[in-house]
Amino acid sequence: MRRLALLASLALAPAAADPLPAHASRVADYDVRVKLDPDAKTLAGSEHVTWRNLATEPVGELWFHLYLNAFKNSESTFFKESGGQLRGDLMPDEGWGFIDVTSIRRKDGVDLAGGARFEQPDDGNAADRTVWRVPLPEPVPAGGTIELDVEFTAKLPRVFARTGYFRDYFLVGQWFPKLAVFEPAGARGRATSGWNCHQFHANSEFYADFGSYRVEITAPKSYVIGATGTRSERRDNPDSTSTHVFERDDVIDFAWAASPRFVEVTARFSGQQDVSEQEYAEVAALVGRSREEVQLTDVDIHLLLQPEHLAQRDRHLRAAKAAIKWFGLWYGRYPYPTLTIVDPAFGAGGSGGMEYPTFITAGTSVLLNRWPLDRVLAPEEVVVHEFGHQYWQSMVASNEFEESWLDEGFNSYSTGRVMDKVYGEWMIEAFGLRLGGLELSRLQNSVERMFDRIRTPAWGYSSGSNYGFNSYARTELTLLTLGALVGEETLARAMRTYHERFRFRHPTSDDFYAVVSEVAGRDLSGFFAQTTERPGILDDEVSSVRSEKVDEPQGFFGEGEGKKNVTGKEAHEKEKQADAASGRRWRSTVMVRRRGEVTLPTSLRLDYEGGEAQTLPLVEQDRAGVENTGLSPGPASGEPWRGRFKKIELLSARRLVSATVDPEDRLKLDVNAANNSRRAEPDTAAANRWGARLVFWLQQLLALSGL
Ligand SMILES: [Zn+2]
Repeated sequence: MRRLALLASLALAPAAADPLPAHASRVADYDVRVKLDPDAKTLAGSEHVTWRNLATEPVGELWFHLYLNAFKNSESTFFKESGGQLRGDLMPDEGWGFIDVTSIRRKDGVDLAGGARFEQPDDGNAADRTVWRVPLPEPVPAGGTIELDVEFTAKLPRVFARTGYFRDYFLVGQWFPKLAVFEPAGARGRATSGWNCHQFHANSEFYADFGSYRVEITAPKSYVIGATGTRSERRDNPDSTSTHVFERDDVIDFAWAASPRFVEVTARFSGQQDVSEQEYAEVAALVGRSREEVQLTDVDIHLLLQPEHLAQRDRHLRAAKAAIKWFGLWYGRYPYPTLTIVDPAFGAGGSGGMEYPTFITAGTSVLLNRWPLDRVLAPEEVVVHEFGHQYWQSMVASNEFEESWLDEGFNSYSTGRVMDKVYGEWMIEAFGLRLGGLELSRLQNSVERMFDRIRTPAWGYSSGSNYGFNSYARTELTLLTLGALVGEETLARAMRTYHERFRFRHPTSDDFYAVVSEVAGRDLSGFFAQTTERPGILDDEVSSVRSEKVDEPQGFFGEGEGKKNVTGKEAHEKEKQADAASGRRWRSTVMVRRRGEVTLPTSLRLDYEGGEAQTLPLVEQDRAGVENTGLSPGPASGEPWRGRFKKIELLSARRLVSATVDPEDRLKLDVNAANNSRRAEPDTAAANRWGARLVFWLQQLLALSGL
């Protein structure tokens, strides 16, 4: 974060709401015609591409993504990184796919293919064919436009990751020659202008500019087609095919699905009927916006279900409506009139759980049709999660390659909140087991995983497992911790402001830090420096608790003539009398230690015999607690404690029974909640913490098994 910029923004009057932009700046428009050959599993396509140079300098080349070449052979970067398996799905034998550009011409017919070549900006792997650079005979002037006609053929891979076919099911994503993002100097903090175009990696998917899409899809007449956008036309052709035209403005991508087996279910989310006046009023108060600003609009939902999952129709629709509602209320209304949800075919699970603009893929199993597994909320969670990407990837179009946490992590946090709000704080309730999304995230949090920064390019983490932990669960825990420290309302307003301000734009982590500091009214760079910019463990513990009766003084007291000897016998006698009158005080010592390097404000609860308790903020001044005799409150203010240990000594009328650091469980990033509490005596109530210990050991087990 640039401190000067931050101070300047803090000096401004409290920020008014940023109105949601009606449209994106259109940079890349696509008019595509594509024909599916369902037997050969191939596409034949042509596209008319319009690119606008919004920079203040001429641009002499165009960079394209040719993503399907990730599946071309075993030497691609995607294949090497994934090892031929992703999210538990294996690359099938003979499942390769590719894309060939057969012609690329400027609108005036000038052939651009001659100087084109593949680039490997991320890893130099010469075999990778997913980034294609096309030099232009004359640069596109600042503010100018270039139009291209591109022809391509593609062979779809057999589904194992994100895209491809399985028998007569087709999920066609990342399939057309697609322009990368030209970033002028200064954009997203970069020093010099250039194309931001990453190879196709195992663990990242999107970064693209906004534009207007019109796509004509031709497939056999019997096929049900779903796609990004709204169907504006369907015509039957003489050769027993049909052509479906879909159009959508202000999106960064386009995907579609085709299968004769889909059962199409439609439903409508209503901004009038699906949200009560009270809910509107509560959210408006929470996010600090007017009633009009939080008004939602109607959305037509198209659900393409596998016939064997019809029993789960309402579960999918309810989840979709919940997501449209709560994401819309909290962050800003969903601006598109449609949402299409594809339920992948059995055997094509690798294409499930994917997000494209106004088009998502879910994922379920017939096993979840019936009790007791119908209580496992996996299909709901995946619908909510993939819808959430409309907010943190498609509309706020962060660079997921370089900062995956801004997409997946924000989405994990938001998904968890929707699931809690709509379904209660649990994900799985079966066989007496109740596990919430938060528990599932905490289970992954372990010292074994603290070697990466959250803000890391997706291919730069120490392992695939650590990409997943940092981009999803650790970010969720970080945002929950942030919310506990700045207040839920402040975080809700910051998230909304960030979404409003960067809808249809490309923010960075620094933009998010600045928005949170601005909305909170204080510099939070120290929080982000510790949690997202550095690897670091948060593990506060109470390492010892002692509580003993205060002995009466004995020995020589006073000077000269007045010197007096108090014998041990006399002292013990006094102690006996005091005990009889229950007047003896207790001296307690509590050692709090930080086993990790992350230091966040926290507090300590002291529980005394008889049920009384007090909570002390752990502040920087030494011996903060010494003056706290009895149950007088601790210091109300002071710098949060920054050291690695703190010894608290106090006198009290009652025996100290136990001490607990972070008693309200605010610091969700703490890797081990089992050591947060300790009793003063040999622990007779260990069973109380058995659950926390179980979580701790499960964390270690998960981390060691690489999950
Ligand atoms: Zn996701």
